[in-house]
Amino acid sequence: MEGNVSVLQSPETPCLECVLPGLDDANLPTCDTRGVLGATTGIVGAIQAMEAVKVLADIEPHSKGKLMIFDFAQSEFRTIPLKIRPDCNVCQIKKPSAVAYPTKLAWLCGSNTANVNPENPISLDLNALSESIGREHTILLATSMVLVFDYEGHEVSLFSKGRMLIKDVRDETQALEVSRGVIKLLSEG
Ligand SMILES: [Zn+2]
Repeated sequence: MEGNVSVLQSPETPCLECVLPGLDDANLPTCDTRGVLGATTGIVGAIQAMEAVKVLADIEPHSKGKLMIFDFAQSEFRTIPLKIRPDCNVCQIKKPSAVAYPTKLAWLCGSNTANVNPENPISLDLNALSESIGREHTILLATSMVLVFDYEGHEVSLFSKGRMLIKDVRDETQALEVSRGVIKLLSEG
């Protein structure tokens, strides 16, 4: 019954870590365990699309650096300002920390796709990784935001902040095995 929308364009605005520091996907309900009203996603999704179009069209989005809060239970909508956290370990620190991923956690969302997040947000040079990983693995898509490649029959999407999605994994054990292989590629790249 609630939705939040914000356009975050760091360094002009706070980043997501400024707004929701230390958020751990492992402790959040998954789409398997917690439902969501279709109408909520419909309304919020349409507003997100509107804000995204404005970003693309160079029209200042209303929610840039602000949080739009939609309370559908009360039918109340309001906007609050967001602040950059001076001690934010993502947008206020220039050098990325070492690549460290959890050893036990793989968060499965939906059917058989695993989501693996680094322990600390990192910044990857996907261009360089595309070159090094591409020597032994098939690159399916390479942009500045995401690198998608085949890793032993699994489609892996590696995002610039270190998050990875691994498709077609049976269980957490297999997901971790694949993620460890990918992490090895990162350290080699
Ligand atoms: Zn930040």
